[in-house]
Amino acid sequence: MFVVMATTATEADVLGVKSQILAEGLTPFDHVGNDHVVIAVVGEIGARRPVLLDRFAAMPGVMTVTPISKPFKLTSREFHPEDTVIRVLDAVIGDGSLTVMAGPCSVESRDQLFETADAVAAAGATVLRGGAFKPRTSPYAFQGLGVEALRYLAEARDRTGLPVITEVMEPNQVDIVAEYADILQIGTRNMQNYSLLRDVGRVARPVMLKRGYGATVEEWLMAAEYIVSSGNPNVILCERGIRTFETYTRNTMDLAAVPLVHHLSHLPVIVDPSHATGKRWLVKPLAIGGVAVGADGVMVEVHPNPDEALSDAEQQLTLPQFADLMTAIVPVHEQVRSLRGDLLDAGAAAGIGNGGLSKH
Ligand code: PEP
Ligand code: MN
Repeated sequence: MFVVMATTATEADVLGVKSQILAEGLTPFDHVGNDHVVIAVVGEIGARRPVLLDRFAAMPGVMTVTPISKPFKLTSREFHPEDTVIRVLDAVIGDGSLTVMAGPCSVESRDQLFETADAVAAAGATVLRGGAFKPRTSPYAFQGLGVEALRYLAEARDRTGLPVITEVMEPNQVDIVAEYADILQIGTRNMQNYSLLRDVGRVARPVMLKRGYGATVEEWLMAAEYIVSSGNPNVILCERGIRTFETYTRNTMDLAAVPLVHHLSHLPVIVDPSHATGKRWLVKPLAIGGVAVGADGVMVEVHPNPDEALSDAEQQLTLPQFADLMTAIVPVHEQVRSLRGDLLDAGAAAGIGNGGLSKH
């Protein structure tokens, strides 16, 4: 449930409510909104709900107490109506600007990373990506350069000024990855690795949470809830395709998830058409599609010589193809930017946030 404080509530009133929540064995999270302070009451409430509703409602400075039907609380737009905006070095994510994360699937060498970094920076990328620890389907495939790659990524950041994002696969890698990288990525295979989610929730680095390839939007938001409730509010969501019966594409990019998540949550949403399609020539149309439905940005894989890449050779763009993609998506973003409010209003009018959708 959420306790909405009156505009006239004093700091002592807010503290009083928070101590009462703690006294009930629950955890308070407050959000200072434009109009009101809202305090989320998180924990096992169960049968105590009606009693607690009355108890909090009677406290000084409280305007209303609202029960929340959805299982995700801190990531919901009801709790936090304004968009979350994440700043990392010079990049701003979620403020209406277009975030473009680009770089190789795997960091293969210093030269390969630097050549890619220079080219994507020159073409307008805002974040540099590169895999150091690689989650590969085969244990015999290239597993990444590990810490050596982290060092190259840090050097590439110094060289280009771009913040770097890289995947962390295991709880025991969190500290070292956070030492070198600016944004931590949780891959699709780890979306429900709850100990990893809790651990990245404790570091002072934004986290990009990829959607599990078999996860519903609600499961994805619940995974984000693990990170936020562990203390890290800076979560970026990434739609990277889900597995369906289709085999021509590596995955099926769920474009509807973008406006849907914007409606349900305040967190920024990025689309990854590289992993969603698995095919180089499909990356540009799907990147355009993602931007057109209001994504806060795109993540694409780029390699100086994709055919010789050690991972995901078929889906990585060449350096000129990346520059061409930029010229295609920037004007689309300019047009769509002005429609963002309309897209959200349409969702509110349809009431899609108020429960499950019919599947047929
Ligand atoms: C990646 O971005 O390098 C990656 C492995 O993606 P995903 O987890 O979406 O497969
Ligand atoms: Mn890849």
